[in-house]
Amino acid sequence: MPPTVAVVGGGISGLAACYHLARGARPPKVLLLEAGARLGGWLQSTRTADGAVFEHGPRGIRPGGVVGTDTLHMVSELGLEGDVLPVPGDHPASRNRFLYTGGALHKLPSGLQGLLWPVPPFSRALLWSGVRDLLAPAGTEPDESVYAFVHRRFGQEVADIAVDSLCRGVFAGDCRALSIRSCFPTLFKAERHRRSVLLGLALGSRKERGAESRLSQRARAEHWSQWSLRGGMESLAEALAAFLRPRGVELHCHAPLRRLRWHPSGHWQLILADSTVTADHVVSALPAAALAEVLPAEAEPLAQELRRIPAVSVAVVNLQYEGITLPVTGFGHLVPSSEDASLLGIVYDSVAFPQHNGTGASSVRLTVMLGGAWFRQSFGDPAAVAPALLLQRAQAAVREQLGLEPAPTRSIVKVHQACIPQYTLGHWQRIERISRFLAEQQLPLSLIGASYTGVSVNDCIASAKAAVGRLLGQLH
Ligand SMILES: Cc1cc2nc3c(=O)[nH]c(=O)nc-3n(C[C@H](O)[C@H](O)[C@H](O)COP(=O)(O)OP(=O)(O)OC[C@H]3O[C@@H](n4cnc5c(N)ncnc54)[C@H](O)[C@@H]3O)c2cc1C
Repeated sequence: MPPTVAVVGGGISGLAACYHLARGARPPKVLLLEAGARLGGWLQSTRTADGAVFEHGPRGIRPGGVVGTDTLHMVSELGLEGDVLPVPGDHPASRNRFLYTGGALHKLPSGLQGLLWPVPPFSRALLWSGVRDLLAPAGTEPDESVYAFVHRRFGQEVADIAVDSLCRGVFAGDCRALSIRSCFPTLFKAERHRRSVLLGLALGSRKERGAESRLSQRARAEHWSQWSLRGGMESLAEALAAFLRPRGVELHCHAPLRRLRWHPSGHWQLILADSTVTADHVVSALPAAALAEVLPAEAEPLAQELRRIPAVSVAVVNLQYEGITLPVTGFGHLVPSSEDASLLGIVYDSVAFPQHNGTGASSVRLTVMLGGAWFRQSFGDPAAVAPALLLQRAQAAVREQLGLEPAPTRSIVKVHQACIPQYTLGHWQRIERISRFLAEQQLPLSLIGASYTGVSVNDCIASAKAAVGRLLGQLH
């Protein structure tokens, strides 16, 4: 009898774990338990009757690096090659990104011009920030907030405007609370190894690659900045499910794990609402807080560490307009917290992915992101906030910041509670204590997903691949 592996949580991390478990030479018996009615977790796409696609979660995946290459390899193996929508390097959505600050949109500087001359909203040429980084001594703290790190190396303006906005765009988080070591490990290591971030990035840019495919080679040749899928990101989850079912992986929706029990005879008991499942190994692809709720009492030290990994809520408002044009074309704009804490930014979806406009080919589709680390102070309890208030706020932002007066022809409001984990200061120590606990207790439990070592879709898939690699090594 092959061993049984139970994967808990049917988001992209759990599905990717099943994929890597199922494609091995001697696969274990695999079952996936998902609490909700559907698979995919935050990968959520609405497809309308007129062929439009609206993303409520991730909308673009980066192709670069080992993790990006590996994801494209998986996409090829799933037969999705023909559905990939690339954004090549010379596309406006790759070249133009904006900041909304001081009541105006500013294109983020690129090339020599931005380096040598002051380009608003920056009051000084960015060259001076680079010089500062080259001259400043290396930090000595084991961790630092993203804000403190960037302030120390590049100066206050870069920290206040650029990095504050970047952290809101990537983590919906506050750069004053987020950890440089865990959120931007490449920058942290560059400084530690070479004293200067720029020097470290320049000298340490040995290009590692994952499993190559025709897609990843094309992505490199065409300098893709990101890609999506014709049917939206949710079709990645659907393709994974279609790959897994014929390979004997049992996919169970409506199956929330209530409690995890370690049986003295050497296996797990997974207590569900009306049944119990036994497994030799559990792969948790749950958010850290959800796992803490189901752990047995003996694992309380682990549960305590997991509860210290917070997550913020984001309201995602999709808007569609007809008969208008955007004042600028690009990926979208971010808003620093000093300008408007409640509004994280606006993505110009129809610029990057016009294929998702459906029959309304000339539509403008936007996504307004609200809340994040500022959700409660701006809108109150995410479980109780009125969608109408969020829609009003999103429309007002589009009017003020993009000058679009007409009402949208279509709007969808989603409130995603605790959707983006926050790697706050000292996160690396929490991860170390968690790993130590699992090793010391010799628990056959793997933790994967956005709560630990990266929130992007690529990072989630990579965490699943790495954990399954270790697990298969132990099982065989
Ligand atoms: C609004 C938004 C925009 C984003 N944009 C991007 C982007 O453009 N690019 C990018 O790369 N990344 C983006 N991300 C990040 C990325 O999408 C997520 O980090 C990733 O999808 C998380 O996947 P996961 O499988 O780890 O977790 P989840 O998607 O949270 O999956 C966990 C699953 O566990 C289930 N579950 C919970 N409790 C239980 C239980 N007790 N028993 C069984 N199942 C349970 C849940 O129902 C859920 O399906 C975005 C995220 C959000 C929220």
